[in-house]
Amino acid sequence: MSTPPPGVDRDVPLSRFTTIGTGGPARFLAEPADEDALIAMLRWAAEAGQPITVIGLGSNLLPADAGYDGLVLRLDGALASIDVTATGATLGGGASLAAAVRRVGDAGLSGFEFACAIPGTMGGAVRMNAGAYGAEIADVLVSVRICSSAGMRMATRDELGLSYRHSNLQAGEIVTAAELALTAGDPTAIRERVREYQGRRTAAQPRKARTFGSVFKNPGGELTSGQILEACGLKGYAVGGARISEKHANFIENFDGATSADVVALMAEARRRAKAQFGVELQHEVQTLGDIEIPPV
Ligand SMILES: Cc1cc2nc3c(=O)[nH]c(=O)nc-3n(C[C@H](O)[C@H](O)[C@H](O)COP(=O)(O)OP(=O)(O)OC[C@H]3O[C@@H](n4cnc5c(N)ncnc54)[C@H](O)[C@@H]3O)c2cc1C
Repeated sequence: MSTPPPGVDRDVPLSRFTTIGTGGPARFLAEPADEDALIAMLRWAAEAGQPITVIGLGSNLLPADAGYDGLVLRLDGALASIDVTATGATLGGGASLAAAVRRVGDAGLSGFEFACAIPGTMGGAVRMNAGAYGAEIADVLVSVRICSSAGMRMATRDELGLSYRHSNLQAGEIVTAAELALTAGDPTAIRERVREYQGRRTAAQPRKARTFGSVFKNPGGELTSGQILEACGLKGYAVGGARISEKHANFIENFDGATSADVVALMAEARRRAKAQFGVELQHEVQTLGDIEIPPV
């Protein structure tokens, strides 16, 4: 294998880069700060036969305990920039949503407040069509710039096939920038709305624990996944160092050195009970990385 380009590190624990705090090492990890560096890394990975993946703030990610045998990319520098315009913003794929919400709100641009409590990046939010409080990325997105080993392409919102926590982005396709369209609003009213959303979060969800947000998508019937799992008596149920949150049953907390295997075992038990008691097959929202499988019910 040829020598990796500068800035590519070896054997980096992914637990450092996930909000749940689990996951084994990435064989290679790099944080390119501009598109040229990113393309050099993608070319090297293609030549070296290394699979690639991109991660943001790891807030919806469960990597295998055995790690990832390939190149993990995290976008930094110009690829995480925030540029506010008169009618919206252009955000790097690695830009933090929380920082972007603050910047556009201060500039008197409204429509992005819903993202204040989503602890991820713009690229991860596009990939997941992240949303909250009745709004989602699809409502504000105009277009994205996508890099892969095949080169660079632009895609409009409609070309991304966005639906509930879903896009048609493929593994190895990296959102390096996204353009948002927002509307004029009063910065004080925007800040007030952000405070209200954050207060609602603190009341309903575990905020200090290590989690990856909602474990399962809502199944679409009368009951949410959280309500189903609570009715199954799963609040507080633990495997190893992971447990179903006492505050919200659709959250798993790493309370004591959990492994991803502990988390998978909890997810499998939750799915089994939801199927047995409610006849519902819960689908996981969290994205897995590496050799990891949530057993079927
Ligand atoms: C406390 C908490 C609350 C949460 N609340 C919400 C919520 O209200 N609504 C909601 O939708 N989600 C929520 N989440 C989940 C999570 O924050 C979102 O899914 C977020 O969009 C993930 O972004 P990320 O950058 O952390 O992506 P990661 O978790 O790092 O990655 C998730 C997926 O996105 C892909 N990805 C990451 N960056 C890129 C990129 N640049 N280009 C292409 N693909 C990329 C990864 O390969 C992976 O498949 C919550 C999570 C936590 C911990």
